[in-house]
Amino acid sequence: MIEEIERLKKELERTKYELGILYEISNAMRTTLKLDEILYIILTGVTAHLGLGFNRAALFFVNEKEKIIEGKLGVGPETAEDADRVWTQIEEEKKNMDDLISVSGFAAETGFNKQICHFKLSLEEPSDGFIALCVFDGMPLHLTKEALQKYAHDPTIQLLKSNELVVVPLKSKDKVNGLILADNFVTKKPITKEDIRMLTMLANQAGLAIENSQLYEKTVIRSHSDYLTSLWNHGYFQFMLQAELEKAKAASSPLSLLMLDIDDFKIHNDALGHQIGDNILKEFALAIRNQSRKMDYVCRYGGEEFTIILPHAEKKEAFLIAERLRLDIEKYPFSKETVLPNKKLTASLGIASFPENGSSCAELISFCDKMLYQAKHKGKNITCCY
Ligand code: GH3
Ligand code: MG
Ligand code: MG
Repeated sequence: MIEEIERLKKELERTKYELGILYEISNAMRTTLKLDEILYIILTGVTAHLGLGFNRAALFFVNEKEKIIEGKLGVGPETAEDADRVWTQIEEEKKNMDDLISVSGFAAETGFNKQICHFKLSLEEPSDGFIALCVFDGMPLHLTKEALQKYAHDPTIQLLKSNELVVVPLKSKDKVNGLILADNFVTKKPITKEDIRMLTMLANQAGLAIENSQLYEKTVIRSHSDYLTSLWNHGYFQFMLQAELEKAKAASSPLSLLMLDIDDFKIHNDALGHQIGDNILKEFALAIRNQSRKMDYVCRYGGEEFTIILPHAEKKEAFLIAERLRLDIEKYPFSKETVLPNKKLTASLGIASFPENGSSCAELISFCDKMLYQAKHKGKNITCCY
């Protein structure tokens, strides 16, 4: 009888402790809607000693379009020495869960995270991998040392070198959209049924939090995008120009602004109607986005006018970029362009550069506008910068 009471007492205490942890993690998840912060909170909860206490955890997303699984975040040490150093530091500084969650920049730097972020796995051949099995079955999978022998050639095991692991699905509305993998790579502590139960409970909450955050991020992007062309809209252009200009000033680095205006666009509309005009604007937007650098902000300023913010580009470089773009546009086979007088759709471009042409957004835009006007005046399909 006494033994039974003791057992129940222990069980009750453990359940109280577990609920406390889940409560703390779910509270932390509610403090932000940013996806990378949510992911970091989840994995900190899985690995923190005050949390679920796994040595390492990795989070993967299912990319349905490409039929692959992609690594998104890894939290944990790369080696046993690494683990010792970090865990001693946490112990000495008496860090609690809140402290751990607040240093999200830390994870991005680690070798383990880099390994995970480079990881991609095909979902086309489900028979080959246990990760794919977890996605298709939607059930947690516990692989002990013996079970793992079967998967010795699995790319995930080759990468992680785990000797025992658990992988749980992240679900939203009964669809698996990702997974969390956890192991005790350093301590080799066996994974218990309770560990798996806790991880599954956490994953259920995490799946919903991730879905909410993805929806939020999509909404934010949509509110900054132009409806017709999907380029950044005018409001976001002004915001980003200000932000990039401040960065350029702080780092004493250059910045250039391009403004493009389609030549004789009114003729398109008059000859073909506004709907076809709209389609041509979409084609144009896609063409200039594809020809731009990843770091540039390609925006629709309004109507058939576009702007491109070129961080770190001085005038000379901006001129080369603009000329390449102008020639690409000239060569590009736009639909219905034969209605135009020159049988070719072209654009005129103006350039303004910081610091020489202005030190405020208004000054740069005004100079760029003047250059564009000059290009039109000189006969169109030209880039002007002086
Ligand atoms: P220029 O070479 O001097 O730039 O001549 P242009 O005809 O391109 O310039 P103008 O400013 O006279 O006319 C721009 C035209 O762009 C007029 C307007 O109807 C059209 N336009 C602006 N926004 C849209 C749009 O969203 N869809 C369509 N179809 N047309 C648009
Ligand atoms: Mg115009
Ligand atoms: Mg025009």
